[in-house]
Amino acid sequence: MLENKDQSRTSLSELGEFKLIEHLTKQVKIHHDSTVKGIGDDCAVIEKSKKQTLVTTDLLIEGVHFDMSYTPLKHLGYKAVMVNLSDVYAMNGTAKQITVSIAVSNRFPLEALEELYAGIQLACNAYQVDLIGGDTTSSTKGMLISITAIGEANKEDIVYRNGAQPNDLLVVTGDLGGAYLGLQVLEREKQVFEVNPNAQPELENYSYLVERQLKPEARKDIVKLLKDLEVKPTAMIDISDGLSSEILHICKQSEVGCNLYEDKIPLDQQVISTCEEFNLDSTMVALSGGEDYELLFTISQEDFPKIKANPNLTVIGHITEASEGKNLVTRANQKIELVAQGWNAMNKDNL
Ligand code: ADP
Ligand code: MG
Repeated sequence: MLENKDQSRTSLSELGEFKLIEHLTKQVKIHHDSTVKGIGDDCAVIEKSKKQTLVTTDLLIEGVHFDMSYTPLKHLGYKAVMVNLSDVYAMNGTAKQITVSIAVSNRFPLEALEELYAGIQLACNAYQVDLIGGDTTSSTKGMLISITAIGEANKEDIVYRNGAQPNDLLVVTGDLGGAYLGLQVLEREKQVFEVNPNAQPELENYSYLVERQLKPEARKDIVKLLKDLEVKPTAMIDISDGLSSEILHICKQSEVGCNLYEDKIPLDQQVISTCEEFNLDSTMVALSGGEDYELLFTISQEDFPKIKANPNLTVIGHITEASEGKNLVTRANQKIELVAQGWNAMNKDNL
């Protein structure tokens, strides 16, 4: 987990916009020669390469995508970068630059933004991306963060969502459901705290889950791994909304069906035990939980020997003709239709 500094409070109005930007970005490091000009002019300048350019944006809004009561700002900054880099890796690309735009109300002191930027810069340095610009403005209520990531890939290396073919294998990285359960644990602690502000959070048994929620890592390592293994996926997507929703995107865009095997879905031991405690079905959590930022991809069967021994990769099913439908094959060997449910469908009324 990331450390938090002691908080003193300096009002943003003391600085003004230009000093604020200067202050927040004075430690920015540039990692790439292709970043010709970073922060400080009317535009950033990037040297065009022979590769194709990947561009992706995400917008995060306080109260919708994050809750300040249990999200340390340093983690929020880190996660906001990861969410974007994950999309670049899901195209089998390399992330190079980001821009960061923020809107903040005067309820936030300078120290809060310093924490946010400490997380953003930690992510930039760990993943070798350059922070090259953005915009800073005020909001009447709450915080908004919008990040745009710019990446690149050789034309022939880019993997889209629409290339899956019947008989391809469906592969997922890491394990699923942790981030959603981390959120449930944090929500529960928030409620305990609201009743008893002296209560100490009990998070030791849930450390992996809380880390998955607050400090996700985008799978840059998988892009390298696939390259080393000489495997080019036929389709790929990152898991931001839950496994079922992402599989359905691949099936729809590739015009294919699939069989996903319930007993193959990779789950961490903490996910299994916490599902028991919270009386949740672990398959449902993996299918609909979201925010895991793992990669889901399809490969041709010929490539199976190259990936089969890798502990980061799990084959969870295969692609079929569209006419066979999109199915979850249960442990009892029953086929049920996969339905798209994002994380917002996970409230108790739907379970
Ligand atoms: P402009 O008036 O041309 O929009 P700004 O004064 O908003 O310029 O920004 C000055 C410089 O600081 C620009 O290079 C811009 O990209 C950068 N910048 C502004 N806000 C941010 C931010 N929140 N994070 C990083 N860079 C920023
Ligand atoms: Mg501006």
